[in-house]
Amino acid sequence: MKYNRILLKLSGEALMGNKQYGIDSSRLEQYALEIKKVKELGLEVAIVIGGGNIFRGVQAESSGIDRVQGDYMGMLATVINAMALQSALEKQGLYTRLMSGIKMEQVCEPFIRRRAVRHLEKGRIVIFGAGIGNPYFTTDSTASLRAIEIEADVVLKGTRVDGVYSADPEKDPNATRYSTITFDEVYQKGLNVMDMTAFTLCQENNLPIVVFDMNKPGNLVKLVEGEEVGTLIA
Ligand code: UDP
Repeated sequence: MKYNRILLKLSGEALMGNKQYGIDSSRLEQYALEIKKVKELGLEVAIVIGGGNIFRGVQAESSGIDRVQGDYMGMLATVINAMALQSALEKQGLYTRLMSGIKMEQVCEPFIRRRAVRHLEKGRIVIFGAGIGNPYFTTDSTASLRAIEIEADVVLKGTRVDGVYSADPEKDPNATRYSTITFDEVYQKGLNVMDMTAFTLCQENNLPIVVFDMNKPGNLVKLVEGEEVGTLIA
């Protein structure tokens, strides 16, 4: 196996599937099945999930809601997604724990690093909800930070695009996909991998990132088995 402990970042938007809003149950089930396959290989799996399918902080300003308030609303949205994912994983017979960056004792544990690591060692899938618990951050930054804290081997950013391209593949027919690229190159070329806070955290801590298409069945397993899937930033 190429990795032992992974941090999988899933965007909230991906959970929408073909819907305009909210959670697509078939997409959720598909993700749970993919994660189950990886778990069966013996990996330790931590997950950060976004909230963009429900609410984004920046969206708040246009609707007259204060930015900080909006960011907290976004964090709460990630908890809704995390709970849905937890439920889907449990339906597959997997053991999970949901840890939140904002205390909400009736629904989940608070994030405590040592505890998170212990859960992973015991084979539980740990989902990190509510981002890092602070406004003006994103779930990408959460993924980077938590990955560093739990000493994950890699951040796997599951998206609907199959990697990092030289230009936007939806707009430029000549765009080519990188199979590997360095942090410096991404920066110099101004490519969009993650927001800068998230990206810099990974770079400074030598934490590789893989951007890959999570919607393609089997991709996640191939990736952790060492096949070339998506783009590796290292
Ligand atoms: N958010 C935040 N702090 C965090 C994580 C998230 O304020 O540590 C808020 C922010 O407003 C963000 C929203 O939660 O827009 C949803 O997360 P994100 O946009 O990263 O979700 P994704 O795009 O991955 O679905």
